[in-house]
Amino acid sequence: MKNSILKSTLVLAMFTLPFIASAVVAATVIHAGSLIDSTSNKVIQKATVIITDNKITAINQGFTEGASEDTVIDLSDYTLMPGFMDMHTHISSQNNGPASYMEGFTLNEADFTIKGVMYAEKTLMAGFTTIRNLGDRYNESVALRNAINKGMVKGPRIYTAAKSIATTGGHADPTNGHSHSIMGDPGPIDGVINGVAEARKAVRQRYKHGADLIKITATGGVLSVAKSGQNPQFMDDELSAVVETAKDYGMTVAVHAHGKEGMLRAIKAGVTSIEHGTYMDEEVFKQMKKYDTYYVPTIMAGAWVAEKAKIDGFFPELVRPKAATIGPLIQKTFAKAYQSGIKIAFGTDSGVSAHGDNGLEFALMVEAGMKPIEAIRSATQNAADLLNVSDSLGTIEVGKLADLVAVKGNPLKQISLLQNVNFVMKDGLVYKHQ
Ligand SMILES: [Zn+2]
Repeated sequence: MKNSILKSTLVLAMFTLPFIASAVVAATVIHAGSLIDSTSNKVIQKATVIITDNKITAINQGFTEGASEDTVIDLSDYTLMPGFMDMHTHISSQNNGPASYMEGFTLNEADFTIKGVMYAEKTLMAGFTTIRNLGDRYNESVALRNAINKGMVKGPRIYTAAKSIATTGGHADPTNGHSHSIMGDPGPIDGVINGVAEARKAVRQRYKHGADLIKITATGGVLSVAKSGQNPQFMDDELSAVVETAKDYGMTVAVHAHGKEGMLRAIKAGVTSIEHGTYMDEEVFKQMKKYDTYYVPTIMAGAWVAEKAKIDGFFPELVRPKAATIGPLIQKTFAKAYQSGIKIAFGTDSGVSAHGDNGLEFALMVEAGMKPIEAIRSATQNAADLLNVSDSLGTIEVGKLADLVAVKGNPLKQISLLQNVNFVMKDGLVYKHQ
């Protein structure tokens, strides 16, 4: 349909070029009371952002009028920002307590896919126009990403790692806690590796399945049914094999890590980002600066598991003490990480907490001492840098894709406003305006 319209426009254009040229370039003109373009810490008062098709084509000082056929959107009481980008989500699942541990036995691929459709829309409506998905069960996030890109489903742009890679019994081993009779011996295709050859195979398999990047679990974690929440779970040669193979396929490597030793090994192997980073210290910060590693904090996940650990029976007994110990530490770690000056990109681990609540992370970052404008930039400019998409996303500049969000009022004075985004545009299309 779109194609045939385009073709007939082209045919007409050959005969009546001047008339068609002015008629087909109807633009969207946004009058923004305040504009945070995320290229600096500055806020611009009264600006006009002009969008043609899916791109930003002009930014003017003051409120300028468009052509008569243009659509004007009045956001003169709002603060306009680049679409938010959450660098750590699990878009096709959401923890709901004890029942979550049964889902692996009772649900199928299609069930997770449909959950993903629902959570993707919630995420977009919360102002998150781009996400990284760091782990699913059956590569269902690949199908979800493709459906969103085709316009079949409403959701953010997804960059997905598909199924995470662990070692046997490691944090993302999908059969942890199963009875021995059904535990089996999962391998590289399922995201479990031991040794260099299997590490390479697991990365290549993810490329073949359509993943955009690689996620590994380099240390123990909180929610897996396993004893340690922080022991190192990959050897140096396995880490190097993952990083080198990923590089061959143009993929970055995101690393779940709580314990210091596992983090240090991963950073020195050249991974792209450390997720959670609970037991980071000065030595880790120093290595992250040296190796140019990003930190994705996920304070929300820490706060959420700490809270739920207080409820009897919410977590299995192996999980509860890990949640109670590690959970409350992440915000304190983040405060130190921010002071150290390492590179920080916004991430929530949504899917642990509820999808759509992602904006709460901003408040937790600010509570830990980060400037509000820098929290916003971590979710826009920095996130785009981490994803290697700074040429098209992350700031409001001419030539970039029109992913824009707005809130009524001043989020730099009231950071909680970012938990109720009033306006969402993705790829030049308005999904929300209230
Ligand atoms: Zn996660």
